[in-house]
This record gives sequence, structure tokens and C-alpha cells, in this order.
Amino acid sequence: MYQARFRVDNEVAVVTGGGRGIGLACADALGEAGASLVIIEPDEQVGSAGRDELIAKGHKAELVIGDVTSSARVTEIADLLAGHGTPASILVNNAGIGSSGISLEDVDDELWLRMMDVNVNGVFRCCRAFGRHMIAARHGSIVNLGSMSGTICNRPQPQTPYNVSKAAVHHLTRSIAAEWAPHGVRVNAVAPTYIETPMVLAIPENKTRIEAWLRDTPMGRMGQAHEVASAVLFLASDAASLMTGAVVPVDAGFTCW
Ligand code: NDP
Repeated sequence: MYQARFRVDNEVAVVTGGGRGIGLACADALGEAGASLVIIEPDEQVGSAGRDELIAKGHKAELVIGDVTSSARVTEIADLLAGHGTPASILVNNAGIGSSGISLEDVDDELWLRMMDVNVNGVFRCCRAFGRHMIAARHGSIVNLGSMSGTICNRPQPQTPYNVSKAAVHHLTRSIAAEWAPHGVRVNAVAPTYIETPMVLAIPENKTRIEAWLRDTPMGRMGQAHEVASAVLFLASDAASLMTGAVVPVDAGFTCW
């Protein structure tokens, strides 16, 4: 009985930013558990590579080019899927950008607004666009990528725009969860620690940040994308049927202290 509850057969799972990193791992986990996959990517090359990797693993995967900063595009994608009789029943809001150690006094409007537009407004737009169809079907599960930085103010280097954007994702998760629970739609989030992905490795300052963090973390290691994907699969599946509005730490114990 329990194994079946982790299956997502007959579900259509949309993963934003699913072409690489944590998003690709989430798509892989959902595909292995039986879902048909749709990955949304702004970059054709990254998206095609991700889709081909998923297909090579035997998953049913499609790539749709799209950017979560466009309300019109994400609405179009959600409506097209529903129009073809395959509305998304699982949505993983993974697309996100990071910020390097810039002190708040040096953060310009452009950086701040871009961070909020991708990390917060992108989640809102996708929840609204895909959630409408989930509400109509009275069936759906949304998992948002938060961060431990949305729970604690990550140290030692400053990253206020990112921290604030992820705190907003956590609260957006709880707020939408409360609104949509009566409609049969669950909304949860994961809050990972540092995961070895292109986003983290691309920021040179992260080396110092991670060394300090490793000294402070109970398990003393970074995470791998598949360790986040397992938690996302659990939350997306019926195994988490009584969970909504949860922000689940996947952080090697960092936020215990
Ligand atoms: P990556 O940078 O490796 O991947 C991010 C993905 O999001 C890419 O596919 C990227 O596309 C896509 N993306 C970026 N902007 C947009 C956009 N506007 N519209 C659609 N897609 C977009 O990041 P990670 O895999 O590391 O992170 C994934 C999520 O997990 C993020 O939300 C991040 O904040 C969160 N997270 C990551 C942690 C980590 O340590 N890695 C820790 C905690 C949370 P493209 O390839 O074209 O740029």
C-alpha cells in the first residue's frame, strides 16, 4: 500500500527550470515514479539537453520554452496543456536565480526587482496559471523551491535580496495552501541547504561561504540535487496527502541550531 502512494502514474508534472540542476533531478524523480513530464526552460539549449537526458532514462518528457517572468507565456502553457486534455496536476516551481555576496547598500533596483520577479512573482504566476486548472479538476499538488535562506539569514556573506525572496516563497506557499485546500489542491515547499548545482558553483564567493557553513552544519556536508528531488516527490505524491502549507527543511540539520 505504502509504495503505491509514492507513485504519480497518470499525473502530468510541470517543472519550471527543469533543464538542469535541482529542477532536472525533480523531473527525473517524478518521471521514475510514473509522471509525464513537461519542463519549462527559457534557454533552448539547456532545455533540450535536460529533456534528452530524461528521455534517455525512459521518461515521457516534453520541453516547452518559457520564462516565468512572463504571465502571458505561463498562462498560455497552462491553458494549452489543459486544452489538450492533459492539464498539469503536479507543478514544481523550481526556476530561480541566486545573488552573490552584495551588501544591501550596493544592491541596485534592477537586481532587487529581478530577484523578486523571478523568485517570487514567477512562483505566483505559475501557481495562478496552473492552479486554476487544478481547482477546476479538484486535484493538484504544487511544490515550491524555497531555501534555508528563507528561514534564517544565511551567513557569513550578505544576500538579502535572495533571503527575502525565499522567505516570500515560504509565506506564499502557506497562504495559497490555506486558500486552495478546500479545492483539493495541496501546496508545500522544500527549504534546501547548499546543493551542488550550477547556481551555487557559479558564484565564486560561495567557496568561503560554504566552508564556513560546513563548520556550522550538524551533518557537515552539502546536499546533492537528488536529495532535494526525493523530498519534492514525496510532497507531490499521495504519500503526503495530509500535508499542505508545509515548508520542509532539506538542510543537513543546519536550521536546528
Ligand atoms: P540552477 O541555476 O542550476 O538552475 C536554475 C534553473 O532555473 C535553470 O534551468 C534556469 O534556466 C531556470 N531559470 C532561471 N530563471 C528562469 C526564468 N526566468 N524562467 C524559467 N526558468 C528560469 O539552480 P539550482 O538548481 O541550484 O536551483 C533551483 C532552485 O532551488 C532555485 O529556486 C534555487 O533558489 C533553489 N535552491 C537552490 C539551492 C542550491 O544550493 N543550489 C539551495 C536552496 C534553494 P537557465 O538554464 O536557462 O538559466
